[in-house]
Amino acid sequence: MVNRVLPRLPDGPATVRELMASTVSPALSFEFFPPKDDEGEAQLWRAIRELERLRPTYVSVTYGAGGSTRDRTIRVTERIAAETTLTPVAHLTCVGHSRGELRTIIGRYADAGVRNVLALRGDPQGGVGKPWVPHPDGLDHAVELVELLRELGDFSVGVAAFPQGHPEATDLEADAAALAAKAAAGAEYAVTQLFFEADQYLRLVDRVRRRGCEIPIIAGLMPVTSLGQLSRFAELSGTQIPPAVVARLERHRDPADVRREGIDLLVSLCEELLAEGAPGLHFYTLNRSETTREILAGVADVN
Ligand code: FAD
Repeated sequence: MVNRVLPRLPDGPATVRELMASTVSPALSFEFFPPKDDEGEAQLWRAIRELERLRPTYVSVTYGAGGSTRDRTIRVTERIAAETTLTPVAHLTCVGHSRGELRTIIGRYADAGVRNVLALRGDPQGGVGKPWVPHPDGLDHAVELVELLRELGDFSVGVAAFPQGHPEATDLEADAAALAAKAAAGAEYAVTQLFFEADQYLRLVDRVRRRGCEIPIIAGLMPVTSLGQLSRFAELSGTQIPPAVVARLERHRDPADVRREGIDLLVSLCEELLAEGAPGLHFYTLNRSETTREILAGVADVN
């Protein structure tokens, strides 16, 4: 018997699945991280309000590695659900949580009317490249968190996908198999890690489709404002930056020109992805709205 501890969620904020099905235009989504202090919180809410005007399909809030940032993720997600017109997606990871703790957090989201969760394993506690050690009473892979969410309530569950392959995957086929397994467990859409070449995304889609898996794969995009920022995020996420992208940015001395080049690069990437049928664009906003808004203003198909 299915141990369904949560009541069926009331009809309320739509799910990402319903929102994606109800429109012919590509999904548009923005990702935020939980702020560290009051100033960061004010910046986050400015960005949320500015990006709200673009009427995104959903916005998501990342889940950090430690206690207080995790509470803030839950608080910010609940506040978006209560105080804005936006549909929030809460990220949740298996890192350092027992199964019981995960059930409690999932229950809290359900109580707050949050129906959308991005189910992630999380990075190893030592960082990308270090060995993954699951909590002794916890979950080992994201697929188990997808199963837990589907068992506990009426959630719409998203998962992560990796155009360059996940850093721990033995090869690209194993990586595609892991995504197909998450879809088979009930994940309804995937969002990719950042990437800069449409081909990498398209090859991932092909690998997954060859397995008979039709999960919509939303393209995850990092607005580039400087080489330093780009290198930091590439390292944190274990992503390789193509040399052609570095060369394009390195041509410029003036930071304003680097930023302009980064915007042009992202506009072309978005247009190529949409022309090739990507079902959505997801922006890693870093809690700022300006660059994302400028990129979107340049993309013909979302205007
Ligand atoms: P999994 O799907 O569990 O995959 C992890 C590894 O295990 C892969 O190499 C996979 O091939 C392999 N694997 C999967 N299943 C099996 C199996 N049954 N047997 C053997 N091997 C298997 N991290 C955070 O900490 N907080 C966030 O908020 C966050 N948000 C993210 C948002 C997006 C859109 C993306 C793309 C990533 C995000 N991450 C976040 C990072 C993510 O947690 C890491 O990339 C993590 O290392 C992998 O998570 P996963 O959910 O893909 O794990």
